[in-house]
Amino acid sequence: MKDDGKVDPMKNAATDKNQSPWRRRWQRWGIGCLRLCIIASAMLCLFVQPEEETVDLAAYLNEGKKVFSQASTLGEPEDHWFPLLSASDELLGWMTSTNPQARKVQGYAGPSELLVTADVQRRVVQVSLWQTADTAGHAEMVRRDPAFWSQWNGRTETSLGAYETPQLVSGASLTSEAMARGLAARFGAQGVEEFFGRELEIVDVTPWFADAKTIVPMKKTGCYEVRDAEKLLGMVLRSSRMGVTQRGFNGSSDVLVAIDANGQKILGVAVLGSRDNEPYLTDVRDELRFTNGFVGKSLDEVIVTAEHSELLLVSGASMTARAVFGTVQEMLRRYRLDEAATTIPWQWPVSLAWLAAGVWLGFRGGKKSRAIFAVCSVLAGLVLGWMLGQDQLIGWAQHGWQTPPALPLLTMTAIALLIPALTGKNVYCSRICPHGAAQTLAGMALKKRFALPAKWHRIFSAVPWMSLLVIWALALAGSQLPFAHAEPFEVWSTGFVALLPAVIFTVGIAVSFFLPQGYCHYGCPTGALLKFLTHAPGRWTRRDSIAAGLVAVAWIVVLI
Ligand code: SF4
Repeated sequence: MKDDGKVDPMKNAATDKNQSPWRRRWQRWGIGCLRLCIIASAMLCLFVQPEEETVDLAAYLNEGKKVFSQASTLGEPEDHWFPLLSASDELLGWMTSTNPQARKVQGYAGPSELLVTADVQRRVVQVSLWQTADTAGHAEMVRRDPAFWSQWNGRTETSLGAYETPQLVSGASLTSEAMARGLAARFGAQGVEEFFGRELEIVDVTPWFADAKTIVPMKKTGCYEVRDAEKLLGMVLRSSRMGVTQRGFNGSSDVLVAIDANGQKILGVAVLGSRDNEPYLTDVRDELRFTNGFVGKSLDEVIVTAEHSELLLVSGASMTARAVFGTVQEMLRRYRLDEAATTIPWQWPVSLAWLAAGVWLGFRGGKKSRAIFAVCSVLAGLVLGWMLGQDQLIGWAQHGWQTPPALPLLTMTAIALLIPALTGKNVYCSRICPHGAAQTLAGMALKKRFALPAKWHRIFSAVPWMSLLVIWALALAGSQLPFAHAEPFEVWSTGFVALLPAVIFTVGIAVSFFLPQGYCHYGCPTGALLKFLTHAPGRWTRRDSIAAGLVAVAWIVVLI
């Protein structure tokens, strides 16, 4: 393999020969572990929310001086309050920030941080905007509204944690509401970061389930069973609890989707709450109430519908309607994926045997066994639908494990990541991945093979790395895009339901008849991730430095 890390292969081969086998092995394990740490660190970066903030004390003091002109220094903090001291160490007042608690409260486009300055009894003297990730125009409107800022003046510290109806800024209500919620969160208010805080009630589901008596949370996040005294009446999905937040004209909506007891047909869609604008919201609500185009459709029909107007046509409110439609599609897609991941007991021993055989053949197997095992892997893919993909890794990183994943899926992921890192052999791609196996079989069907000219090979080889980079950059930027759509793997478990994976799947397999493992070489971001683990075993290369650097930058951005 040509090393990308500016390492002279001849020199390295000579150096390797001079090393003892044990030293080479330790070196390979060490570098492999470092590469796993880089991936784990990127995942952790998605998961963490910083609890402690670094504070620019000089900037705080300058702000404090606007209220207490004699202030000279900030003392040691007590309960996250900084004492403002005069030159003679006399206590003049206190200062505190609304972060980190306010970080969880999203405004129109992001959270805001406020500074609270109080007198010696911690009675508020001034609340001011310190920094914001919200839209500049809305933030400026709030900044210029003295009535908004003065509403907290004179209040005691203990009263600030009560989130009562605050005075908002007309034209910037989302931004000002988020700031007020952030301030209440800082002083102990619970659940204010959740804009759709109230729990589901029976009355919310009676339009579809008149006999409903109980709503029971299912294992799938954001999904609920609706029951009468004895039997299951159907299911309800709730977007805010599933983490689906597609923004309409002015904000996201909390959407409910009711499904029949067989999990096949949609009984109805409703907007439970919304941060979007009137009158668009009322138009969409009315449309859903009176001529609900979703009713009676199968889940798959809705997922493949290309245009929102086919099911939800609201003239003059297209952005709100498109957002509600997109939310419903993503909720159904996640629901179907979870369904596909549900296992029955006999699958476990069979799938574990398949994985064990794949690992064994990855080390010992020859060319003959390759075709036979490729058939097994394709069958396993069709029956089980399990594959390692970026959507899965990002999902685990972002949300953790609400319920532990199935043991074979966990084993497959461990095999895919640990074995290449520790041995330099990518047994997942060479033997186990059903999509790779399907391409292997397709490549065997025709004798005539093509190879890209060197220049095109170089250009297209960059595609998997670029897609990997873009996917993780979007995830770290907080994008809610369905990353499963960037890869073809979902098709194995859900069929040709979503357009983009179906196109990638079809084109990838078609190309591999002529271009061996065409999608693996020129399209697969997961393949790129695994190549990262296997390239130049035992040597730190430029590729490692770039990956470590990018993850370090991600951490800096997240923590700032
Ligand atoms: S490169 Fe991608 S599609 Fe190909 S075998 Fe590896 S994971 Fe599967």
